[in-house]
Amino acid sequence: MNSLKDNSADGSFYEGRSKQIVCGGCELLCDDVTTQSIESGTGCAVADNWFAHSELQSESMIDGRNASLTEAIDIASQRLLSARRTLVTGLVSTTLDTIQIACALAECTHASIDANASENSILTAPTAIRVGGVTADFEELRDRADLAVFWGCDPRADFPRFIERFIQPVPHDASRRTISIGPTPVLLPSSHNLHFSVPEDQLVSLARLVHAQVKKKPTGKSFSNLENIAVQLTKSIDAARCIGIISTKTVEQTGLVGWSLTHLIRSLAHRKPSFGIRLNAEADAGGGNCAGASTVCTWRFGSPGAIPVASSAGSEFLPAEADAQRLIERDEVDCILIIGRLPSRIEDLLTISPKPKTVIHISDTSSLPKYENSICLGCASLSRSTEGDMLRSDGRLITLQPFAKSQKPSIQKVLNDLLNKLAVETQRRSTP
Ligand code: SF4
Repeated sequence: MNSLKDNSADGSFYEGRSKQIVCGGCELLCDDVTTQSIESGTGCAVADNWFAHSELQSESMIDGRNASLTEAIDIASQRLLSARRTLVTGLVSTTLDTIQIACALAECTHASIDANASENSILTAPTAIRVGGVTADFEELRDRADLAVFWGCDPRADFPRFIERFIQPVPHDASRRTISIGPTPVLLPSSHNLHFSVPEDQLVSLARLVHAQVKKKPTGKSFSNLENIAVQLTKSIDAARCIGIISTKTVEQTGLVGWSLTHLIRSLAHRKPSFGIRLNAEADAGGGNCAGASTVCTWRFGSPGAIPVASSAGSEFLPAEADAQRLIERDEVDCILIIGRLPSRIEDLLTISPKPKTVIHISDTSSLPKYENSICLGCASLSRSTEGDMLRSDGRLITLQPFAKSQKPSIQKVLNDLLNKLAVETQRRSTP
């Protein structure tokens, strides 16, 4: 096994020794990944993809031709200022500091901003937020919950190490039982790992039924196929000391699964330690700092995304209206500034978008030359050479640990230079 020489500029890191590194590949932001060599793999396929990109691919380009970074920043600032409407997106593969600069840039260009989080494309997102959930951090689930319920979700594909890190370890002074509710079992069924097959369109009804049983209220409506499941679930809940209910983004577009589950968890929490763990982003979102992007946007603009015009003086929140997907689908933006790795959903939309758009991509990877009118601003590797913090979806701050030096500027510096250039160009245009 090689050292972490990889493609770094000086190629001299951690010779022959295992090192613990931080992975930003998904929102688990694992800070316990140990490897001697990135090239030989980390044991997590999503992490290997996150580390696989090399900044050697990140040359700066303008409309398909190579350019210096300075020239690319110049042209990018001009196109941003000439755009009718810009969308700032991406964001989740980079640090909190960089997202703050991205917000400043969105404000300076009166752009829309949305990190492409799934909840921003659900119409009821504000309701789901207002209802207020009882949550805990992942380690609390690991250390305290003697009953873990997977509610219509299977985290194994999008969050590959979730089971290994937070379910397999035994909680303090107890064994752990799991229940998976959904089409397939999350863990091999056994006396400790139960599985109830429930179709997705009945998850809301099941939550309401269990809720009614927990509160000893009449259900009001007959759910014959769910009642036995609800009885068994309620028994398991009664027997548990501490309950963690895990859910992920579902394909349902109403937000009602999350809403009904939140109400159930709140009622359980009045009786005994209970909390929800909500995993939001898909593995192909581009990176793991989804919570960071939502939080920075919320502090600055009052909402986590789907912001039609970025303004710290007051922005609207238009979920399912001003989210990145809708804005691109409806051709409501003629310029897209992608900060960090390109999320696959955005890439797909750009491919099928009927009208040409200016696409400006600041990243350590680039797949833009195929688009006309595109500018790539190359930066240091986001996975290997970037310093800063990301925010895990349970609110824990995770500090990146770069292990490869880079000759290229950080994404933060490139974005800062672009912001400065915009200020100069704005000033120049406004001077008679
Ligand atoms: S589970 Fe996610 S954060 Fe953890 S190593 Fe895999 S990709 Fe990285």
